[in-house]
Amino acid sequence: MLHHARVAPLIAAVAAPLLAQSAPTRAPDSLRVPILVYHNIEPWPGGKPTAALDLTMRPEAFAAQMRYLAEHKIPTVSLDALLDALEGKRTLPPNAVVITFDDGRVNQLHNAVPVLKQHGLTATFFPFVHAMDKNPRYFTWAQFRDVMAAGMSVGSHGVLHVRVDKVTGAKLHEEVTGSRETLRAKLGASATAFYSYPFGALAAAGDSAVRAAGYRGARAYGGGAWNSLANRWRLRSISMTESMKNFVAAVQPGATTPTPRAVRK
Ligand SMILES: [Zn+2]
Repeated sequence: MLHHARVAPLIAAVAAPLLAQSAPTRAPDSLRVPILVYHNIEPWPGGKPTAALDLTMRPEAFAAQMRYLAEHKIPTVSLDALLDALEGKRTLPPNAVVITFDDGRVNQLHNAVPVLKQHGLTATFFPFVHAMDKNPRYFTWAQFRDVMAAGMSVGSHGVLHVRVDKVTGAKLHEEVTGSRETLRAKLGASATAFYSYPFGALAAAGDSAVRAAGYRGARAYGGGAWNSLANRWRLRSISMTESMKNFVAAVQPGATTPTPRAVRK
């Protein structure tokens, strides 16, 4: 029994990517559209890896990943487009991916946005709204308006970057609904569609708060490349590092990892 129970999901996992791309009769509520998560795009402090390395990718490493998307004609789509597809309202191009950035650090504006623009890629930025126009390490509202005009999207990462499993009542409401109202006032209604859970923390009360606030969906941290409407309040994602192997496995499963340019003869 154990043996059979473990084989069936394996077969499903192998067959499903083909079905998702080619079978128009497949239910639209289970799609492999990886949501990639980035944080800081900036040089390593002192040129050395640090404890925060998993949240900081060097600009040249990020550029190499975006170049891979462009060279392999892997299209980027918005989270709205993914939700439309999950709801059966639209078909996404083959191999589509979603790019997201958490925290609203201005290094994303300087080191990621120009690369995205260069390749005609789109991404969604999730700031926690307290930092805007206050802390020079973060975007200003004007800078967010500029990137939205350039085809990028913005969503909420809360007010103070608080875990939804650690607050309740008015505090949870302020994080989820309050941040959404600020985004609406500063950037317009199009910035109020998605929530990204700080620290990836999840809670039933968080799901409820996000739904009640009027968001369309919410992004969790980790979980893989597949999503369905059943997890629209906890959309699975893949955390990105400098590893091209992990990147290629996410965006083009089955492809071999390219040889890093630095060591190519
Ligand atoms: Zn965060």
